Parts: sequence; C-alpha cells; structure tokens
Amino acid sequence: MKVVVDPDVCLGCGVCESIAPDIFIIRDELFAHIIMDPVPETMRDIVDEAIAECPEQAITLLD
Ligand code: SF4
Repeated sequence: MKVVVDPDVCLGCGVCESIAPDIFIIRDELFAHIIMDPVPETMRDIVDEAIAECPEQAITLLD
C-alpha cells in the first residue's frame, strides 16, 4: 500500500503521528511526511484509523 498526505490541506496537527508514528512524522511543524513506503498490508487498520481521525481528510491510501 502507498499512503500519501496532501501538504496543501494538512495542518501539521500531529494526530496521524500519534496514531502511527512508524508511518507519519511532522518534521517541520507544517505538514506530515510519510516515512514508510510501501506500507505493509498488515498495517491497514492503523492507516484507516489515521485517515478517520485526520481533521482535514488529508490522508489518502493507495492500494
Ligand atoms: S492528522 Fe491530518 S492534518 Fe493532522 S498532521 Fe496528520 S495528515 Fe496533517
């Protein structure tokens, strides 16, 4: 799986990083970066949780 964050809408709030710190990191306090690519299928549930909790719907999962 591939996870992407739209930097134009991400707030850099850190919710995704708190849910899945192995996948997301707020490096510059502006927006989330993806640090795992590809993301294994076994982590789909945690990605789904991050997508659901993101206040800006900035996270997209590409199969
Ligand atoms: S939860 Fe959404 S808005 Fe917040 S840092 Fe992550 S991708 Fe950006």
